[in-house]
Amino acid sequence: MVGILQDKDRIFTNLYGFHDWGLDGAKARGCWNGTRDMLDQGGPWIIDQIKNSGLRGRGGAGFPTGLKWSFMPKEVRADRPHYLVVNADESEPGTCKDREIMRHDPHLLIEGCLIASFSMQAHACYIYLRGEYVLERERMEAAVKQAYAAKLIGKNNVHGWDFDVYIHHGAGAYICGEETALLESLEGKKGQPRLKPPFPAGAGLYGCPTTVNNVESIAVAGTILRRGAEWFAGFGRPNNTGTKLMSLAGHVNRPCVVEEAMSIPLRQLIEDHGGGVRGGWSNLKAIIPGGASCPVITREQAETVLMDFDSMREMRSSLGTAGAIVMDQSTDIVKAIARISYFFKHESCGQCTPCREGTGWMWRVLERMAVGNAEPSEIDLLLDVAGQVEGHTICALGDAAAWPVQGLIRHFRHEIEDRINQYRARKGAFAGHAIAAE
Ligand code: SF4
Repeated sequence: MVGILQDKDRIFTNLYGFHDWGLDGAKARGCWNGTRDMLDQGGPWIIDQIKNSGLRGRGGAGFPTGLKWSFMPKEVRADRPHYLVVNADESEPGTCKDREIMRHDPHLLIEGCLIASFSMQAHACYIYLRGEYVLERERMEAAVKQAYAAKLIGKNNVHGWDFDVYIHHGAGAYICGEETALLESLEGKKGQPRLKPPFPAGAGLYGCPTTVNNVESIAVAGTILRRGAEWFAGFGRPNNTGTKLMSLAGHVNRPCVVEEAMSIPLRQLIEDHGGGVRGGWSNLKAIIPGGASCPVITREQAETVLMDFDSMREMRSSLGTAGAIVMDQSTDIVKAIARISYFFKHESCGQCTPCREGTGWMWRVLERMAVGNAEPSEIDLLLDVAGQVEGHTICALGDAAAWPVQGLIRHFRHEIEDRINQYRARKGAFAGHAIAAE
């Protein structure tokens, strides 16, 4: 058997787009089946089911989804409507799973939007797509149109809950994936994170109660309710339950996106679904397990780590979005992390000093270290600066910039030191050569 999850237990049965993405195809695969019955059970029942399933946010933070929904006010004030906002600003390097849902199973997402919005008494939902996702936006718009035409959503729809879905296309800034920056952008302002509190459930979109969820977190809701919370909770380990879209990029023989059971061993994921590491497992150097912000883990760690929140935390890394970047021995790991640092420097919104100054500073030092042009004492200085950025900023981009640097130094300090020594040796040899030539 390849992997752990069996075909009969897959939620995303059109992940690769082999079948009809449209309404007829989606219905044939079970989507929109029994949705009215779910709503008839009431919002509190839906939230309880999602809580019991153990679903944790699939956008990286892993916050329990049902609990998040329960934070919304129980009463809706006339002047403060509730909103659901779906974060489809998938921009983290290495992460490419939500786009497959939007391209090939858009109705699962729309159905999930209705269910989640109903449970939180929201009559409107905004899906915020990253600027580069043009095909995905067109597909989502077409699917929303189909849902309106079939009266699955809209005023006086067959589900008895007036509900509108709006597709909003961002302009391509990574920071708009941060939930409060996303809300700012949605309101037509510059996409800069807000200070929290207040949290969106208290004051979100237009100052009204809002829940922001990742695409996958919402798209699985319908199937969880159809098949039962226990079914979903039956996959993975306690506190890490369910199925999850995972992706493999970089030096594997078959890069892919695949739905798997949570807690599948990372090595099994790579060998069963990715066709193994290029050149064999012994050729593996390091893995970034869940998107560029997650600290690297080594081959030794990758032997035993499981693809879940707790196991990754024990390795001092993070599951993130489960978008793994595999790097073999040919990788210049210092240069690779320097490139990631450049990304975060480029995407910093500049509001807070540690992030605005620190990301650029870390990138510049790493670029020098990548060629060995640094002092050995700068390694600890870099670690110190990363620690001063981490946890001292308005939003998590500061952490996201610091963690890869910390992971690099934790596991590959020797490579930086070797490079500095080689650079010095070259410089010394060159100086000696120049003196001899005089
Ligand atoms: Fe902006 Fe960086 Fe501060 Fe986030 S941490 S608000 S991206 S400056």
